[in-house]
Amino acid sequence: MADQPFNAPAIKTKHVHPTRTSGKRPLHRVTLLVAHETATPFGSREGVVNFFASPARRGSAGSAHQVIDHDKRNRMAGDRVICNGASDGGTDCNERGIHYELCSPSNKTDKWWMRTKKRRRALKRLAWAMAEDVVAHDIPTRWLSPRALRKGKRRGITNHRNITKAFVPGGHTDCLPVRRWVLRRVRRFARRIRS
Ligand SMILES: [Zn+2]
Repeated sequence: MADQPFNAPAIKTKHVHPTRTSGKRPLHRVTLLVAHETATPFGSREGVVNFFASPARRGSAGSAHQVIDHDKRNRMAGDRVICNGASDGGTDCNERGIHYELCSPSNKTDKWWMRTKKRRRALKRLAWAMAEDVVAHDIPTRWLSPRALRKGKRRGITNHRNITKAFVPGGHTDCLPVRRWVLRRVRRFARRIRS
């Protein structure tokens, strides 16, 4: 079967296991979109979905709202659920965040990402998912650097690496690949969804 178009709606199948979350929040607390990479092989979405649906063992209690690859997108938790997306050093990045897991190895070059249609489609699917939330929660499409995060800025888009750099030295460094290209698409898709 052909891959779904990049703007296909998220599939609500499996749900994130409650042992991996930190309760609920009112929707007005949602102000931050956080990109992640799973550090698993490209296109490993089903394994990642099953992992997040399984009970957490101690020390591995991570979760995310959406899981994305070139083929499909799964919604694991509603936006009211606080997912444990990043170690945030006791700040409110998780409480404010929607977390997207792109099923891919970490820290590939931008060149690697742009080389095949499948990889570009995975990035476009991530951009579309973010654009939906930019519109739904009225979030600005500005990039929040580690410095901005440290200064308390929470309205915008960032990645796990920036949260680590800002608050948790030595933590995970997964990022938003081909950032400028993806952010341009988030803005374009948000305009398309609004019109
Ligand atoms: Zn991450």
